[in-house]
Amino acid sequence: MVHREMAEFGHDQVTYALEDDVGLRAIVAIHDTTLGPALGGTRLLPYETEDEALQDVLRLSRAMTYKAAAAELDLGGGKAVIVAEPDAKDEATMRAYGRIVDRLDGQYVTSVDVNTTVADMDVVAEETDHVVGTSDGLGDPSPVTARGVVAGIRACVEATYGSDGLDDRTVLVQGLGKVGSRLAKRLLEAGAAVKVSDVDPAAVASFTDGRDVEAVAHGDVYDEPCDVFAPCAVGGVVDDETIPRLECDVVAGAANNVLAERRHAEALRERGILYAPDYVINAGGLITVATEYAGDTRADALEAADRIGDRLLALIERADGRGTTVLDAADAYARERIETATEPTPSPAET
Ligand code: NAD
Repeated sequence: MVHREMAEFGHDQVTYALEDDVGLRAIVAIHDTTLGPALGGTRLLPYETEDEALQDVLRLSRAMTYKAAAAELDLGGGKAVIVAEPDAKDEATMRAYGRIVDRLDGQYVTSVDVNTTVADMDVVAEETDHVVGTSDGLGDPSPVTARGVVAGIRACVEATYGSDGLDDRTVLVQGLGKVGSRLAKRLLEAGAAVKVSDVDPAAVASFTDGRDVEAVAHGDVYDEPCDVFAPCAVGGVVDDETIPRLECDVVAGAANNVLAERRHAEALRERGILYAPDYVINAGGLITVATEYAGDTRADALEAADRIGDRLLALIERADGRGTTVLDAADAYARERIETATEPTPSPAET
């Protein structure tokens, strides 16, 4: 029963759409719109079963509610999935999808996600205004994400060592893609000692060329001594096997779903390692599309990303005061924002 699943996840609305003539099967999940329109990308995957697609869209849309609320955005959480082979996607599919988004009348605002592109959003934009991440928008969010991660790392460093200066610190960046390479550059500029690692040797070679950075072999990354481990590649890197090996004081990076399971936040805390919740520190991507939706500029997005640092520091202090993980503190703060939405929202520093 979809209603049962909706109740379990706390969803407001789930829309199933079928346009067989253009091969479109989509599910749009609106988790919560208390703080504003439900914003979240459209993921296109050949899910094997309808239940698999439903579980994914329910889980992802709920996560967007928390991410937006914790980032102090006036947005709710939504997500959509299109069930299709990536190479079967064409203009007619995306156009039909745009009409579905339009029928939701602004309750849901879409953007890019796995297997959807800026060009797809341009097609969607021909059918609806409720889309961001188009070629007329603010462009690649990665620089904003990287800037937010630097601010978040500074907050963690301040909480751990008493000063946010990076010149005495060593940061190990895992993954030298769009975010990781920018993050590593910014850390070097801020005076940090930087170690880098990537599964792709070409990415490592091109980054280390001419720079004073140490390359760490892909397999040695979890055993490498550093102050801050910054996962910027894939999810699930913090698990039962890696936690005992970590030689760092802080885990703070851009990757989504860093923890293999939620309980690993507590396991890190027990080891005395500060974990910056992924959805708080990597909110720069969401901040970029939210800024675009509000009609503001890239400079506004960068400024908003800098504020991730103060917010994270306040959450760390809150967690310390309550004897919880920062992840628990962030979830609690997000829920409070939603529950008290009719009143002006205090920042976590004021609570
Ligand atoms: P990307 O695809 O540009 O880069 C990923 C890099 O990680 C690549 O260089 C790849 O070779 C490397 N990699 C893959 N598997 C690896 C592994 N097991 N070990 C080491 N390196 C590995 O991706 P990106 O846009 O830089 O995003 C990085 C992470 O941050 C992802 O988890 C993404 O979901 C998350 N994130 C990105 C943004 C954004 O604005 N791009 C926003 C929020 C979150």
